[in-house]
Amino acid sequence: MRLHKIDRFTLDEVEKPKPQGNEILIRVEACGICGSDIPRVYELGTRVYPVTLGHEFSGVVCEVGNNDDKMLIGKKAAVFPIIPCMKCKSCQTGNYAECENYQYLGSRNDGGFAEYCLIPNKWHLVLSNDPEVSTDDLSLVEPATVAQHAIRKAGLTAGEKIVIIGAGPIGIMAARWAKIFGASEVALLEIDNAKISFAKECGLAVYNINDVDYIEKIINKLERVDVVIEGTGTSSGMNTAIELCRVFGKIVLMGNPHRDTVINLNNHSLILRKELNLIGIWNSYYAELPFNEWKYTVRQMDLGKLKVHDLITHRVSLDNLKQLFDKIYGKKIMICKAIYSASLNV
Ligand SMILES: [Zn+2]
Ligand SMILES: [Zn+2]
Repeated sequence: MRLHKIDRFTLDEVEKPKPQGNEILIRVEACGICGSDIPRVYELGTRVYPVTLGHEFSGVVCEVGNNDDKMLIGKKAAVFPIIPCMKCKSCQTGNYAECENYQYLGSRNDGGFAEYCLIPNKWHLVLSNDPEVSTDDLSLVEPATVAQHAIRKAGLTAGEKIVIIGAGPIGIMAARWAKIFGASEVALLEIDNAKISFAKECGLAVYNINDVDYIEKIINKLERVDVVIEGTGTSSGMNTAIELCRVFGKIVLMGNPHRDTVINLNNHSLILRKELNLIGIWNSYYAELPFNEWKYTVRQMDLGKLKVHDLITHRVSLDNLKQLFDKIYGKKIMICKAIYSASLNV
């Protein structure tokens, strides 16, 4: 599925790539539709055309360019989509998410909405050791790792209480990570009724931002909120985070802002009075130092500790992908996570 220009996203027949040197060819098994893919197709476009979209994907290694990599054939993996320049200061210190000149599988290079994808080298593969793990689930490793990064950067420790604003797939996964990291109370806040019911069905405590007394309700139940993850990128999310957070508490800014954020005067003052810690995050850590969060996500999935399967509400083949994009863009359906699953291709 290639983007040729804004709003021209088509299923094209192209030649199967042949890996050379360090390159690796994977048979794509599943690829998630990211929130960023929708504006990419209909409003923003990309820098390079035509390009196969899809950056949240998993696959099985089917061909290698280099004999040394032969043992990878048949292995299941999630794919790290950033292709860092490896030259800038960020890359030299292993902070690939901050690379000043990166390439990206699925926006600047061909990605996962395809039968096959050419990966620059084995460094991008995060192998699963569990033959049972579903490749559909492995396509959620990227957003699951962003959620993990938010919790890790919050420095959440055992016994702390956390509120996550926004109950989309990343918010729900952040709630699950918070439990794995030892939070004693986890609550979500959401405005959309369908998302509220979905998150409740996932077994989570969810509060409705439309309730006039939602802050009171949360404080009554939790007593204090040590950490807030702001996952909406909105003014109301930001102000709520400041109001909820305890003195010396931590707010992680995870949601991409959509328009100018307005923090009201009283809340601006509260940031100072409470000595709040505001922490911005961007993607996740892939280097071994300080910690390879991608490997940890796959390990937790392999062990069955991080569950994501129930978050996949929609699965389609390549043939039906454009239709699904249209429905999501037109807000005709409510999704948690929608993916392309190669098992549905005919
Ligand atoms: Zn994404
Ligand atoms: Zn770089």
